[in-house]
Amino acid sequence: MLKATEKIWRNGEFIAWDDAKIHVLSHVVSYGSSVFEGIRCYETVSGPAVFRLREHVRRMVDSAKIYRMDTFQYTREELESAMLELVAVNKLKSCYIRPIVLRGFGEMGVNGTKNPIDLYIACWEWGKYLGDAALSDGVDVCVSSWNRIAPNTLPALSKAGANYMNSQLMKMEAVANGYAEGIALDKSGYVSEGSGENIFVVRDGKIVTPPLGTSVLPGITRDSVLTLANHLGIPTVEQIIPRELLYIADEVFFSGTAAEITPIRSVDRITVGKGRRGPITEQIQREFFAIVNGTKPDQFNWLTPVPVREAVAQ
Ligand code: PMP
Repeated sequence: MLKATEKIWRNGEFIAWDDAKIHVLSHVVSYGSSVFEGIRCYETVSGPAVFRLREHVRRMVDSAKIYRMDTFQYTREELESAMLELVAVNKLKSCYIRPIVLRGFGEMGVNGTKNPIDLYIACWEWGKYLGDAALSDGVDVCVSSWNRIAPNTLPALSKAGANYMNSQLMKMEAVANGYAEGIALDKSGYVSEGSGENIFVVRDGKIVTPPLGTSVLPGITRDSVLTLANHLGIPTVEQIIPRELLYIADEVFFSGTAAEITPIRSVDRITVGKGRRGPITEQIQREFFAIVNGTKPDQFNWLTPVPVREAVAQ
């Protein structure tokens, strides 16, 4: 169960957590018309800071535009400030931030363009998504029997709530069969992504990830991994990945805001590499956590400090 915080932001105002309710006939409930983000605020050595806030807000506005839902009055800068303020108001040191744009209550029927667009931002404390041991030991995953949403069905570049019906099918099947996560293939049968993570394969010292256009979300952690790898001098390539490359890879890992950088130790019960976190995964993890913990300089300008709200004692 989520641990409640004091406030949720709704359409420009801070309201009580318990008041953040919607009508059952809101357009989103029947028709899935929402887009959202998942953002982490880390407790760094110099205070709470939000990871890649600008990029997340930009992706949310992009997601809304794809669905003609970007008719709200807030600028990206205002949304960024609202998120920072919310974390400060709730006095959280580290948390997960969930902004949601949805079509609300009004008309009924598939065309929701006359319904109001409501914006909510919530945040709460959240631990490790795939379990505490996952980051060091790795997880066991399967290739899903469900394919990823195909191009021209649901657009993968939009982080829409509706996409997560596909993710849920993948995740529930994986868990029911004893796996931590499922990896979907795209409509052509090539590797796409996990239910909530992008995927990377390492072979012969090179990092490979599926390109946009294989029904992947343009992950912000994915971009961070590619940036860190380039910085570390590890070659990277965005390339179509056949399923069986997962089995013969030296290392495989997930990236995502919730999953961070999680090693994969087996796929379909076939051991990946040595069956534990590999050296390149570990190197990327080390750089990533050093930046988000604030122990290494934020050289890519990824962190936005949360303003301190407490009055300074005189
Ligand atoms: N793919 C899917 C389907 C996701 O839900 C997520 C999580 N937002 C990701 C990839 C990773 O994206 P990010 O690194 O931006 O969190």
